[in-house]
Amino acid sequence: MSTPEIPASHPGADSHQGAASHLGTGRVHLVGAGPGDPGLLTARALELIASADVILYDRLIPTAALDGARAEAEVLFVGKEGGGPSVPQEETETLMLARARAGLSVVRLKGGDPFVFGRGGEEALALREAGIPFEIVPGVTSGMAAAAYAGIPVTHRGLATAVALVTGHTRADSAKDTASGGRDGGGGGRGGGEAERDETDIDWPALAAFPGTLVFYMGVRQLAQIARSLIAGGRPASEPVAIVERGTLPDQRTVTGTLESIAEVAREEDVRAPSITVVGPVAALAEQLEWREGGIRSPLSGKTVAVTRARAQASGLAQRLQELGATVVQAPVIRTQTLPGPPLDLAPYDLVCLTSPNAVAALFERLSQAGRLPQAGHLPRDARAFAGACVAAIGPGTARALAERGIVTDIVPERFVAEALVEALADIPVEHALVARAKEARDVIPDALRARGAEVDVLALYETIAEPLSARALKAARAADYITFTSSSTVRFFLDAAGGAAELSPTTRIVSIGPVTSATLREHGLEPHIEAESHDVDGVIQALLADVAA
Ligand code: SAH
Repeated sequence: MSTPEIPASHPGADSHQGAASHLGTGRVHLVGAGPGDPGLLTARALELIASADVILYDRLIPTAALDGARAEAEVLFVGKEGGGPSVPQEETETLMLARARAGLSVVRLKGGDPFVFGRGGEEALALREAGIPFEIVPGVTSGMAAAAYAGIPVTHRGLATAVALVTGHTRADSAKDTASGGRDGGGGGRGGGEAERDETDIDWPALAAFPGTLVFYMGVRQLAQIARSLIAGGRPASEPVAIVERGTLPDQRTVTGTLESIAEVAREEDVRAPSITVVGPVAALAEQLEWREGGIRSPLSGKTVAVTRARAQASGLAQRLQELGATVVQAPVIRTQTLPGPPLDLAPYDLVCLTSPNAVAALFERLSQAGRLPQAGHLPRDARAFAGACVAAIGPGTARALAERGIVTDIVPERFVAEALVEALADIPVEHALVARAKEARDVIPDALRARGAEVDVLALYETIAEPLSARALKAARAADYITFTSSSTVRFFLDAAGGAAELSPTTRIVSIGPVTSATLREHGLEPHIEAESHDVDGVIQALLADVAA
């Protein structure tokens, strides 16, 4: 904490390394990302992810962990993909050292805790040897967290006074794995291969004699041998065992048995990595203390939903989806940019129409600038500018944005589309209206007001521009169960990034916020599977829930 952060040179540019080195050395943060539930990321981890120049991450980190990374950050996967080839450890270390020497702030993000079977110790030694300052940010380790999420206290008065964290992967197993081409019966699949391996031999008799709970990491393929060795070492064959697969994730699963039965049960249930195995009397408490699966299972559990709207707007939708148990893939394809313009005087208008929360924010930004310009010094710079006008908003989100700035909206239509706003305005006398909106928008409202004889000024306050989508986010969005489109521009920019409609998986269901977005989808050759009845975030959530329940 005490070493000041060195300002970032352009990340990822090797040519900058020499130039930046005079700035001094950067810093490496070895950060634990927790077991999978994004809620278990620490405050410090989130803070560092948000400020990092470079993030080197492993496979078993929560998908949402990288959502907060800066758009300019260099974000690199250095783990092992689905049992396939991994980035060699030496390469990861070389990269980490190179980036730090270039003066950059590097986050080395690992699943769980970096010092628990995470090779964090090795990386810290390499950093010390290279003279690079580092910080260790502990994470919630999967052995404790998956157990807790399954209702298993790893110590419990009367049942266990100690707990051991053990690697289930031994040197002998690695040799066998290599010889037989791997023993991962299920193969590939959701979890794919195991993560980092600690290839030390285990003293089985000593471990069997350990007076407490044993938590095995990485052992799911070696269960039969682990159980046999423990029984041979003197643990009762009837000792309870629980395997927690994909602990803390929405599709977490617990499989229970005894030392004698567990290998067979796991085979029958097709248990895959990542899983932890808890051996000891406490494992039996899962039955009584199970609190997550079954009973309070959330309606969107196990569903992956991609959100394409601008990052600044997405958080409300993403949070609601997460609360309902969905795994959210942030794939923002658009971003809004306010447009410059002269000081704004609302006095001439008897009607001000706002067509999005963005328009509200941009309008107030424009108003606030008036005071900085001498010729416009007398103009009100806040909500007082609206004093004489009737205020209409296209929907409740826009009305909420106005309310946050002290303005009670006079007119909000029942359906949140321009046509409905026009209808809602039918009985309002209008002489001079201002329609404040995005640069690219339909002319339904101005046309209708003009047809009624009103004078209409259209004020383009912001424009929607493409936000580059990382290959990682695009891949995750394509594989999602649902992909949500909340405006025509999200459709256009997403399909640009994805390379066309044909690039979407046929199993991904397409969710549209309303008829205008649906029409744009159809223009691009995509038929929405679901269209929200209410054209706002609530409507999208309701439509998703109905589809999942159907
Ligand atoms: N540093 C990590 C462990 C890395 S070793 C930690 O502290 O959790 C990888 C092993 O961790 C996996 O093979 C599996 O045994 C365990 N693991 C990681 N995430 C898990 C999860 N969500 N549920 C169950 N086990 C998990």
